[in-house]
Amino acid sequence: MLTTAEKLNILGEAAKYDASCSSSGSGRQGKPGGFGNAHMAGICHTWTDDGRCLSLLKVLYSNVCIFDCAYCVNRTSNDVLRATFEPDELAQIVVEFYKRNYIEGLFLSSGIIKNPDYTMEQLTKTVSLLRNKYNYYGYIHVKVVPGTSKKLIEAMGLLADRISVNIELPSKNSLALLAPQKKPKNITLPMQQIKLAKLDNAEARKKYKKAPLFAPAGQSTQIIIGATPDSDLAILRLSEGLYNGYNMKRVYYSAYLPVGKHPALPSPETRVPLLREHRLYQADWLLRFYGFQAAELLNDEKPSLDLELDPKCNWALNNLDLFPVEVNTADYQLLLRIPGIGVQSAQRIIAARKEKRLNLEDLKKLGIVMKRAQYFVTAAGKFGGRLRPKSHNLHTALAQPTDYVQLSLFDLPTANSFLNAGNF
Ligand code: SF4
Repeated sequence: MLTTAEKLNILGEAAKYDASCSSSGSGRQGKPGGFGNAHMAGICHTWTDDGRCLSLLKVLYSNVCIFDCAYCVNRTSNDVLRATFEPDELAQIVVEFYKRNYIEGLFLSSGIIKNPDYTMEQLTKTVSLLRNKYNYYGYIHVKVVPGTSKKLIEAMGLLADRISVNIELPSKNSLALLAPQKKPKNITLPMQQIKLAKLDNAEARKKYKKAPLFAPAGQSTQIIIGATPDSDLAILRLSEGLYNGYNMKRVYYSAYLPVGKHPALPSPETRVPLLREHRLYQADWLLRFYGFQAAELLNDEKPSLDLELDPKCNWALNNLDLFPVEVNTADYQLLLRIPGIGVQSAQRIIAARKEKRLNLEDLKKLGIVMKRAQYFVTAAGKFGGRLRPKSHNLHTALAQPTDYVQLSLFDLPTANSFLNAGNF
């Protein structure tokens, strides 16, 4: 029989592969005489819409799973130690961690224990205990198990801040090959139900301000990158469809880590370049905030993002006939498409040029990244770049090093000093 501390170690470790709760680590452990510990099993960080960073307990309810998804460490055929919490056991951990300032929220997912609804009932009991027995009002993000019934999704939406379903693989073919028990409909239907429930809730709250909120932080999903041959174009098209069709708040991209031996998976020695994941995040940003469409960034002839150039520079080099752009007359949407000019700097340009005709010096003062923008703008008719936009050397001038290293989510040992000290 496993202790609560042992379960937490197993289920915190098993949850780390989910990137849809964005996370980072810290190697700082608690010391005698001090307080706080950034090193606890399963603790990660996420960011709210207003930019606040929250520490979350990121944990599975259970790593028992009846499915055998080839890319997943929790697949039924994998020989790993299994553990399952009781609802009140996990609720108490959250409460105790919160009271000790270890965490400000919970990210809860699970393997499929007997069937989707049974699993979701256990998650609902846990979250209901937190909200109704322990009066915990902190942030909760719950992963909905694919195939969960509508009634349970609606119940969870009234308890959690964010609920989401992971799509995991970018195409039906990949899903059929590596996760044949997961039916695409069982993923997209809950997404649709969450979207509709949120819309209904918004209507209800217009009429009755005290109507309870339904998943106020919206829904997100995760796509695994590089486990299958799906191209960046296919991935971005899928993301675009998710944002437009399901009001998705956020799509997370997670470079595949070799945990499976299926012949269709990359060999264990293959490491998916983290720079690919980074470029997808940049392209995703362009879809969400810069008015780009996937088809403008990539096409069937060139379906992969350039690892040397960020996607906006790449788009600009493919559309040189639009440049240079005069910053004093370009509309907001065109300003947003200039490399080196972001949402804030485009807004600053619009505001500043009401006062005066801007010159190149003014652009620097407005915080424009001239290192990139210089090749694509004129200000009061003056071009400040070393190379004219049509030069072939622009690619070289804008290329970035490809030895990109992202801070690892997983390098930390899962220390568990609090629980091992006999607190549970
Ligand atoms: S259903 Fe989820 S937990 Fe189970 S094997 Fe598939 S990905 Fe892993």
